[in-house]
Amino acid sequence: MQQRQELRKAGELLQSGEDIGLATVYRVLTQFEAAGLITRHNFEGGHSVFELDDGDHHDHMVCVETGDVIEFVSEEIERLQHHIAEEYGYELLDHSLVLYVKQKDDNSDDD
Ligand SMILES: [Zn+2]
Repeated sequence: MQQRQELRKAGELLQSGEDIGLATVYRVLTQFEAAGLITRHNFEGGHSVFELDDGDHHDHMVCVETGDVIEFVSEEIERLQHHIAEEYGYELLDHSLVLYVKQKDDNSDDD
């Protein structure tokens, strides 16, 4: 709970637009990550996203044009991953799945 309050404080500080320095932000985020409060996702192209770890599993789509990160859950994909690991004689412990996407062109009917 203490850490949650600190996290909220840090979030407010970030949103206040005060110049607190990237190194400070990074240090705080890394501490929260170590405490298991947030999860860092590293995407191709070098950018990372920090998310509050609320225990609910989801995977990500990243729009390569806008950098938008979209969360999604597919029971089918989740099940398949367990199945594949099992087929190879392993037990699935964790995974991270990132789909790199771009917005469909609404004007094209050719697919
Ligand atoms: Zn997943």
